[in-house]
Amino acid sequence: MLKQRTFRRGGIHPPDKKRLTEGQPISLCPDPEVITVPFSQHLGTPASAAVSKGDVVNAGDIIAEASGFISAHIHTPLGGEVKEIRNIFIPAGFSVPAAVIAVDPGSSFQESVLTEGEAEKLSPEELLDIVKKCGIAGLGGAAFPAHVKFKVPKGKHADVLIINGVECEPYLNADNRLMIEHAGELLEGISYIQRMTGAKSVIIGIEANKPDAMKAVEGAAAAQGYTYAVQPLKVMYPQGDEKQLIEAVTGKEVPSGGLPIDVGTVVTNVGTAFAVFEAVRRKKPLFERIVTVSGEAVSRPMNIRAKVGTPFRMLIEQAGGFSEEPCKVVAGGPMMGFAVYDLDTPVMKGTSGILALTRKQVQEGVETPCISCGRCVRSCPMGLQPTRLYHLIDRGLYQEAKDAWLLDCKECGCCSYSCPAKIHLVQGMRLGKRMLRNLSS
Ligand code: SF4
Ligand code: SF4
Repeated sequence: MLKQRTFRRGGIHPPDKKRLTEGQPISLCPDPEVITVPFSQHLGTPASAAVSKGDVVNAGDIIAEASGFISAHIHTPLGGEVKEIRNIFIPAGFSVPAAVIAVDPGSSFQESVLTEGEAEKLSPEELLDIVKKCGIAGLGGAAFPAHVKFKVPKGKHADVLIINGVECEPYLNADNRLMIEHAGELLEGISYIQRMTGAKSVIIGIEANKPDAMKAVEGAAAAQGYTYAVQPLKVMYPQGDEKQLIEAVTGKEVPSGGLPIDVGTVVTNVGTAFAVFEAVRRKKPLFERIVTVSGEAVSRPMNIRAKVGTPFRMLIEQAGGFSEEPCKVVAGGPMMGFAVYDLDTPVMKGTSGILALTRKQVQEGVETPCISCGRCVRSCPMGLQPTRLYHLIDRGLYQEAKDAWLLDCKECGCCSYSCPAKIHLVQGMRLGKRMLRNLSS
């Protein structure tokens, strides 16, 4: 086995809490009676409505079309009648249009969905077209439209395709279970991405706390004849971030404001690779995903495959409901996720987890003055000075914060986690970036 590697600067090691669900096989969520499907589930321009109130749709129909270069189609996972188009709040705090669909259990799939596709002879352009038509966005968190990421710009080339099997956020096991239970399909999906990007080699990065996933992927690669390398990584947060993963795997540093392709790499998540497999082989759009439902306030933490648009409430009920009143319900992981205040919040393409945390886990504390201990600076994987940035943002000096590299902030939360004064540093960074966006628009 290869030696474990990691990135060089900053990072933290929070308790991983993976045990709550790492041994739980993926279970299926029943179909809801009503789904609410947001038109913006990706980075970039929201998709434009392609249906209206009263329309009848089949599972797999496009209900909102990609709008602009960085955008993705939205498909309905279930058929039925569109009851209304209305704005809802998504976990990131934005209000976006969504289709509310009364599900008809007798409705059928859109005719192109779930038919076995011929994959061997497809050209990179044909594969990219399938990925675009199936509305695939990265499942690792950022939800960047995959057809844009996999099209390597002219003048650039991909030496290495890095597959992100890190899943460094505490509690989450969606990717871990996917690798254990679907390694063969995942590897086939990777082979299509390699064809699209023209990458010369493939490295699959997996943290050392997922030995079963490593074994499953290595076993499937040997059985299917793939020469992909599995790189074991030390457990370290935020290793799942593209820049940290590239550094951990290749030793290369992506420059400030640069992209992975600038250092000859393309990075994508294992969930995205599986979605590519399903799109190419089964013509299946991205309309469901695996979600880890966990946290100390959940009765039976588990990993659930759920359709986009399913309310969080149903997944929590499937996991036995709350064992005690949660202090906070979070969409995503505890480090980069967002607190939600409405259990009717729908599952989206980027929903990796739903966590119900008790007061003890949330560790709410009273913010006290900065004691200049420097822990936030030492923990920052981007080499920033979080305390200085926070004070600039607090005083409304957004341009000065930008000059101090605020836009390099990954919002990873390492600084907040390390701060003994409980200062809400990452929330400050988010606010500062949002104010800069507002100022430039
Ligand atoms: S949230 Fe931003 S400032 Fe804080 S540690 Fe992460 S990258 Fe650094
Ligand atoms: S970790 Fe908190 S207390 Fe320490 S320097 Fe940073 S902001 Fe100040």
